[in-house]
Amino acid sequence: MITNRANSIEIKKINRNVIYQFLYRHDPISIQEIAQKLNLSLPTVTHNLKELLERDLVIETGLFESTGGRKAKAISYNPIAKYAIGLDITKNHVGAVLIDLNGNVIKHVRKQYPFVNSKAYFEWVGVLIKQFIDECKVDDKKILGVGIALPAILTHDKKMVNYATVIDFKGGNIASFSECIPYPCILSNDANAAGFAELWFEGNIQNAVYLSLNNSVGGSIIFSKNIYTGENQRSGEFGHMTIVPNGLTCYCGQKGCVDAYCSAKILSDSTDGNIAEFFRLLKVKNEPQIVLWEEYLTHLVVVINNLRMLYDCNVIVGGYAGAYMDEYIEHLRELVSRKNTFERDGSYLQICRYKLEATAVGAALQLVDNFIDSI
Ligand SMILES: [Zn+2]
Repeated sequence: MITNRANSIEIKKINRNVIYQFLYRHDPISIQEIAQKLNLSLPTVTHNLKELLERDLVIETGLFESTGGRKAKAISYNPIAKYAIGLDITKNHVGAVLIDLNGNVIKHVRKQYPFVNSKAYFEWVGVLIKQFIDECKVDDKKILGVGIALPAILTHDKKMVNYATVIDFKGGNIASFSECIPYPCILSNDANAAGFAELWFEGNIQNAVYLSLNNSVGGSIIFSKNIYTGENQRSGEFGHMTIVPNGLTCYCGQKGCVDAYCSAKILSDSTDGNIAEFFRLLKVKNEPQIVLWEEYLTHLVVVINNLRMLYDCNVIVGGYAGAYMDEYIEHLRELVSRKNTFERDGSYLQICRYKLEATAVGAALQLVDNFIDSI
């Protein structure tokens, strides 16, 4: 009897979740259509929708045109039922975003504040979040939590830092943040978060590789919409693939790593660290920038082709440098297609969708993802 009851509660929860997830991925739709598409009975759908409406998680958005008989109500999920905060912690800055359930960026800020593994730093982050939420003017109770992206490799349970050289946080713990932030906190690897954000809205694309060209090079492998983390949470560390035996020294200590040839710094060092200025000068055909760019591309093209050969899926280029590459996409596709063993086609190469704060958005979307699963 208890088992039966448990089963029926379980089935009810599964149905509710299936309906909510369906609404999340579709335009406004009628109750009849939901029942039809999900192969559920009308009473089951009606009952679950009533509960979701009471929780303000779904809304009625109007009426469909009548095809005879009564007009059907249009049902949609409510994107502003909850919000999530995302933080991008870098060596010298902190970026913060507030997103709704749809992943829309409601507000973002970026502050210069170098990372220091000290109580004062984490307290400052706590104050920043409090001020940021006040400015956003959203109901405190609607905030799911804070997703924190770090340039670091995390432990399997994502509560601690296993490896970090970009910021001095090896052995760091999520508690350092959560003690100063009055919301649930979760940690993410920065490149994994950005890759996760890129694929969130790509309904049809299940697999992709994300190459992050920031001041350090990273990446992520997304398989069936999930991050492939590897055995040691070290997957997608494309910055430390060797492309030049005995080549330039990487910050990791090895020689010839991708990072030493393809980090955004290779370009922005010519413009006092200003990547936007680099691409502006490149556009007006300034000689030093053209020379740097062509040299840079010889290595970037090798990396992109290697990723295509390894994973046989779309390669998305992002990060500070990648965000400026829309204008050069056809040229880049031509270059990578020449390296392709199987076909003269570079259409698998894409430039990131999020030009700003992809990492912070991705960190926040992890909370949205958890929330959707919990309904
Ligand atoms: Zn390296």
